[in-house]
Parts: sequence; structure tokens; C-alpha cells
Amino acid sequence: MKKEQLYEGKAKKVYATEDPDLVIVSYKDDATALDGLKKGTIAGKGAINNRMSNFLMQLLEKEGVPTHFVKELNDRETVVKKVSIVPLEVIVRNVSAGHFAQRYGVEEGIVFDEPTFEFSYKNDDLHDPLLNDSHALALKLATKEEIDAIRAMALKVNEVLKAFFLSLNVRLIDFKLEFGRLSDGSLVLADEISPDTCRFWDATTGEKLDKDRFRRDLGGIEDAYNEMMRRVFGA
Ligand code: UDP
Repeated sequence: MKKEQLYEGKAKKVYATEDPDLVIVSYKDDATALDGLKKGTIAGKGAINNRMSNFLMQLLEKEGVPTHFVKELNDRETVVKKVSIVPLEVIVRNVSAGHFAQRYGVEEGIVFDEPTFEFSYKNDDLHDPLLNDSHALALKLATKEEIDAIRAMALKVNEVLKAFFLSLNVRLIDFKLEFGRLSDGSLVLADEISPDTCRFWDATTGEKLDKDRFRRDLGGIEDAYNEMMRRVFGA
């Protein structure tokens, strides 16, 4: 049973339930980009991200990655374990794109020998600055053990998802994860995994099938999300 709204973020709302350890997330069609400067809606996005994220979380659970997923309620709403989010955006990259290409002055599309792993401090007021392990420790954002566990889980997620998407003729370029602590302190993968939080390129044509179409005004954004949905669910 959905009770009071606890929180409203850029792309989701979170509601309490009768169980203090469970909350309901409700996915919106709202989209933001460029540090919140660009706002819009992507019709049908909420339902696509909800269903795709739930599917991928269940795939990852089967592969031994603990997640917040509990039960899909309907198109847009899912019951998840209540967590306190570790304020780190965890980014894994297989190919140069986005901020990596900008920051280091290289073109997009360079294939890395090994995936890269980075943290940003999840703090909108500070514009999510990049930080390293020692900064995260100094700021007491996570313990050393948590950082090690997060790195191991993020790289495992990359292995599982890279292979899964390649089977759909999609290259997983990069993605962002968030982790949360349950009431007993254990870490689980939380937030979402969707075309909002991953870069997907068609493996044959290189076409972008993710939120970069919105960020960069490329058009065809709904078509790209629908295409990813079709490939994942074979609809
Ligand atoms: N990303 C995200 N939320 C953010 C920042 C990045 O989901 O606030 C994802 C983004 O979709 C991409 C990956 O993390 O798949 C790497 O993003 P990057 O650092 O290149 O920043 P961007 O150019 O996306 O702002």
C-alpha cells in the first residue's frame, strides 16, 4: 500500500509503504540534463526505465549482485528495499564518450583495454565533482571496505551487462550506478539502470540509443528508448 511521498527527484518519486524497510518508486517522464539546465519530458520514458531497470536488476541478482529490487507493481511503480544512498555516482566506461572525452580532450569512441572506474560526489550544489578513493574516505562518504565492495560490484555489473547488451547488438559504452545501505548496513545496487543512466550505441550503425539524443538535441529520443525496450523484451 502506497503511503505518503517521501521524496521527489528529477526522474522519480519515492513513497513510503506500511513496511519501514520497503518503499515504492514511481518513474516519471521528466528528463533533465546538462547539470539541470536542460529540462523536458520524454513520452513513455518512465514506464520504459521502470521495466528495463527491473529486468536488469533481476538479471544481476541471478549473477550474484545484490540489488534493491523487490517487486514490479505496474508500468511505472516498483517496490524496492529502503536504502540510504551512498553519495557517490559510480561510473564505469568501456569506450570514451561524454565527460571523459571532454575532460581529457580526446574523441569519442576510443575502446579501452580495461574498463575505467570513477566516482563523482553526488551533490547538485557542487555539480557532482569528480573525486578519488582518498577524497571519498576523507569526506567519510564511504569506508574503505565499502569502496572496495562497490568497485568489485560495479565491475561485475559491467561484465554482465556488456555481454547481455552485445547479445542485442548494442555496445555498452558507459554507465552510472548508485549503491545504498540497508538498515543492517549491507550494500545493494540501487537507483536505476536505463537509457537515462547508460550510453548505448547500436553495434552495427553506431546510432545512439540513449539520453544523449536528448542532451544533444539529436531528435528521435522516444524512438531510441522504444528501440532499446524492443531489444530487451523482444516486443
Ligand atoms: N550519468 C548519469 N547521471 C549523471 C551523470 C552521468 O546517469 O548525473 C551517466 C551517463 O548517462 C553516462 C555515464 O554516466 O552513461 C557517464 O557520463 P559522463 O560522466 O560522460 O557525463 P555526461 O556527459 O553524461 O554528463
